[in-house]
Amino acid sequence: MDSMDKVGALRGVGPAKAAKLEKLGIVTLEDLLNHFPRDYQDRRNVLSLRDLPESGTVLTRGIVTEIRKGRAGYGRKPVLRVLVGDPESQNRTALMEAVFFHANYLERAFRIGGEYFFFGTLRPGRFQRQIVFPEFFPVDSREALEWAGKILPVYPGTAGLSQRELRKWTLGLLRAGAVPREYLPDALVETQHLCPLGYAYENIHFPVDRESLKAARFRLVFDELFLLQLGLGLLAARRRGRGAGVRLASDPAPLRARFPFRLTGAQERVLGEILQDLASGSRMNRLVQGDVGSGKTALAALALYQAAFSGMQGVLMAPTELLAAQHFRTLQDAFEGLARSDGTPITVGLLTGTTTAAARRRLLEDLAEGRIDVLTGTHALFQEDVRYENLALVVTDEQHRFGVFQRLSMAEKGENPHLLVMTATPIPRTLALAFFGDMSVSVLDEKPPGRQEILTRAVDGPRRDEVYETVGRELAAGRQAFVVAPLIEESETLDLRSAQDLAEELQARFPETAVGCLHGGLSQKAKDKRMADFAEGRTGLLVSTVVVEVGIDIPNATVMVIENAERFGLAQLHQLRGRVGRGAHRSYCFLVTGGGGETARERAKIMETSNDGFYIAEQDLLLRGPGEFFGARQHGLPPLKLADFGRHKAILEAAGREAARILGEDPSLAGHPALAEKAEELLRKGADL
Ligand code: ADP
Ligand code: MG
Repeated sequence: MDSMDKVGALRGVGPAKAAKLEKLGIVTLEDLLNHFPRDYQDRRNVLSLRDLPESGTVLTRGIVTEIRKGRAGYGRKPVLRVLVGDPESQNRTALMEAVFFHANYLERAFRIGGEYFFFGTLRPGRFQRQIVFPEFFPVDSREALEWAGKILPVYPGTAGLSQRELRKWTLGLLRAGAVPREYLPDALVETQHLCPLGYAYENIHFPVDRESLKAARFRLVFDELFLLQLGLGLLAARRRGRGAGVRLASDPAPLRARFPFRLTGAQERVLGEILQDLASGSRMNRLVQGDVGSGKTALAALALYQAAFSGMQGVLMAPTELLAAQHFRTLQDAFEGLARSDGTPITVGLLTGTTTAAARRRLLEDLAEGRIDVLTGTHALFQEDVRYENLALVVTDEQHRFGVFQRLSMAEKGENPHLLVMTATPIPRTLALAFFGDMSVSVLDEKPPGRQEILTRAVDGPRRDEVYETVGRELAAGRQAFVVAPLIEESETLDLRSAQDLAEELQARFPETAVGCLHGGLSQKAKDKRMADFAEGRTGLLVSTVVVEVGIDIPNATVMVIENAERFGLAQLHQLRGRVGRGAHRSYCFLVTGGGGETARERAKIMETSNDGFYIAEQDLLLRGPGEFFGARQHGLPPLKLADFGRHKAILEAAGREAARILGEDPSLAGHPALAEKAEELLRKGADL
């Protein structure tokens, strides 16, 4: 068997099971091997019924002495009680009771007098210990031979696939020796004290003991973090190899004069860095980290001016249609009446996924013939058929929404465009190398003058009323308010209703104010319209789902209410809060929570005490559980299976050093073909995201 074969090659996997496996992302045998357990069951010790503890998870064995059917609990639900006695003892009094609810059909699975293994969790019962809904199998069955006395994997599953099946297939693969071939250089395996790859796969699935599990996990975590950084390093090296960039040297004074404000010291400094890069003759590859509201858009506009003035093209890409539309309005205003060096006026365009076919055709023509100088939009800017006459600069706003791989594929358009990426979600220092190792970094560490700290309060459901009293006061004072409706997962209809219901409730409460409502169920045109209504003050209160999260800039809005705040991660809360406090007025953010436990409370406390995006990002990394907001996916990296940036910092750093060392000696990995293949595979996966 080859590890790239489809799972259909396994005995017992027909089209139906294959479809189920695909739901778990498992297509090939290798995918199956990389479907790691989420937990383990320790079945090494078979306890005798006489030695059972009061509680806990156990494996025990005994003889079925009696089966009773009855009803139990408030719902009088059917319950099957299987009494189990000790095989050693003469009188066979039941010492344990296996209890199954709503499962009378299981009666036939037992034979009185038969001996069975039971695996499950104990609890004290009325007459004897109970084991509730245990797994069970006859002691002379194949399962018993295979699964008793071992540490067993528990896999992330899906309906229609049992743990038994997943175990059986995986074990079959391991027995057939279908593990991936070693790809790490021997020297690396040795210096890092890694176990062999085959051993790692065997023991991550069926560990012999805790020590071997630890060794297996260490190896696989190391590999994940190593390959990731190797792949990124490889990309960075390739990009550096094509380093020449068009020289854009002029003075952006005409655009500067259009701004109704003076740039802050930090903006001046970062602008200086950008202008120097653009004029250098090498290609710019710069990241600007600036907290929400620090004024990144003005810098983007100034950089775009440098391109446009020289008769070259520049684009500004945003992660959402709403933000793209806002940027379009901002840039149109800013460039109105400004001209290129040849005297022709600078033109600005907008291209998104919802641009109509006719408009799009015209736009693409204009673009290809150089009649558009500055184009803003979403991912649509980089679709296959979009051709630029002379693209010299790519700016991406809210970089964290795009990710490393897209950033690289964008740069393929045009000859050697300069790259400027802007983000308000700072990458904690430990991760910066992995994410942005190939970039120069500028930090906008100053906010425009007159901004006040946003007063943040976490409020539990019952005190929600006080929140809306503040909203009422602000509305009466002529300010505007955002209310983020709870996101109802996996149901767009419910989602939509929750926003609409809330909008109606608030309209009734604030009859003097026009209340708008923005949600995923609206057409893009309707969304733009409602956003514009709010931006231009025709509505005073906007109820919305999280679509307002990034970038939206409405200085007159002073209140952000986040309903069900416990559902959001820290970085997201900080982004949402950043929608207010963008003008001179005192602003407020309310986190309305309805439970959510310890983590939610800690998040709320951090939000209450800090307005600093960098601090919040560090805390986020510490707090977040696997798969939460600050995960790999949000940064356009392939999802990590075992590694965790927060918990595995030390391995991350060691793996990073090793990756850098290997690339330093062998930049194209010509001498490490197996490794090169692995890294390429990872990059392909990343590009598909
Ligand atoms: P972000 O960094 O979050 O993208 P924006 O670029 O949207 O921030 O700027 C936030 C607001 O601050 C905008 O209304 C913008 O016009 C304003 N602004 C930007 N720079 C300055 C400045 N130097 N002085 C005053 N206001 C500024
Ligand atoms: Mg912005």
